[in-house]
Amino acid sequence: MVYSENELIFCNNCKIEIENIKKQGVMSKVELLLVKHPQKVFQVNYPIVKDDGSIEIITAYRVQYNLNLGPGKGGIRFHQDVDLDEVSELAFGMMLKTSVTGLPFGGAKGGIRINPKKYSKVELEKISRGYVRELFDAIGPKKDVPAPDVNTNPEIMSWMLDEYEKIAGEKSPAFITGKPVADGGSEGRDKSTAMGGFYLLNEEYKDTEDKKNISVAIQGFGNAGAVMAELLYENGYKVVAISDSSGGVYDDSGLNITEIMDELYKDGKKVGRINSLKGDKISNEELLELSVDLLVPAALGGVINSENVEDIRATKILELANGPILPNVEKVLESNGISVIPGLIANSGGVIVSYFEWEQNLKGEHWTLEEVNRKLKERIVGAFYKIKDLAQKENLSLRKAANKIAITRVIKNVNVN
Ligand code: NAD
Repeated sequence: MVYSENELIFCNNCKIEIENIKKQGVMSKVELLLVKHPQKVFQVNYPIVKDDGSIEIITAYRVQYNLNLGPGKGGIRFHQDVDLDEVSELAFGMMLKTSVTGLPFGGAKGGIRINPKKYSKVELEKISRGYVRELFDAIGPKKDVPAPDVNTNPEIMSWMLDEYEKIAGEKSPAFITGKPVADGGSEGRDKSTAMGGFYLLNEEYKDTEDKKNISVAIQGFGNAGAVMAELLYENGYKVVAISDSSGGVYDDSGLNITEIMDELYKDGKKVGRINSLKGDKISNEELLELSVDLLVPAALGGVINSENVEDIRATKILELANGPILPNVEKVLESNGISVIPGLIANSGGVIVSYFEWEQNLKGEHWTLEEVNRKLKERIVGAFYKIKDLAQKENLSLRKAANKIAITRVIKNVNVN
């Protein structure tokens, strides 16, 4: 073994994550040692010519946290604050997510240290293509498969794919996921994160015949939160509160989400924010503290913290956002009898359908939306019951059980000489 237990690890945030898992007491020291270090870390610096003729050096990263379960898998984000620590931490999270859902992928993540608002479209395309050129040897359908993340989108995936195929000299759609459907993207990818969480909720509430009896508050009305609100509303759940960064609306007898969507998205374009809607207003802080059956944080990390944890009155929380509950307050929720479906499984629908996209591309197939959703349901619900079974058997919270399953699968596949 190369590393000693006390050796400083490269990724400080992963260290915090690993410390949290250590405190949960579900993994041994040696087991955690094997996932303490990212396996492969890349930093590249490359020039682009800007529209005004000047040259700028772009700094970018790719971290393949662990490749023992298969090729790396994880998005690429564009952000001015991105650094190796952040990318490593995100890659660590991806490792846990692909592992707990039984996907044949290791965890990876990428980042380009730019503020995308400061560049023209032509410049962004050069930056995207440069990333692929610089990292070409390290990435690819059987090595590491990128996807969109913060500030990146299907169009950027198409540029990156085109660059990859130009260098490889062959068609290779499985190189990247989250592409437009016309370029080999999967049906259902856009709604997959919320859809996955929705399937879990249907399992949780399968004994409640009339879903009108289940009141829900959702924080965040973007890709994840708005789709979840729609799915729940269309399937009879009582969505009593929604919000976005502008604030929220509340109706004890249930909001009409279809009307709200029509109002916010006229002609398919977003024209309004939630504070522009009629009805009783509620702040984001108040929404979190509502006495509801289900709370779905679907916006930012750390929204349930030591300031408000004692005021959380929901019976159950589904983490659609990444890290909405700070680790140090988890115990309080537990002792107040609030159960949490952890993000590791709750928001894994996106990476599961990314895997389906990769599989379709490798096989030269295109699955229908029904097929994609059927397979998504089967995989996410299957993984959920494994977590629940372990939680029950060993008297663990769902989060501890999910972490244990994820890390155990990774370390079983680590090569130790
Ligand atoms: P998004 O940008 O589409 O939407 C974010 C929403 O949160 C917007 O409605 C925004 O107004 C709202 N918001 C921002 N600040 C807020 C605040 N202070 N209070 C309340 N609402 C606020 O993002 P998204 O893709 O929906 O992602 C939301 C969360 O879900 C993130 O934590 C993300 O990491 C996680 N997630 C998303 C996916 C996915 O496929 N989209 C997959 C896994 C996890």
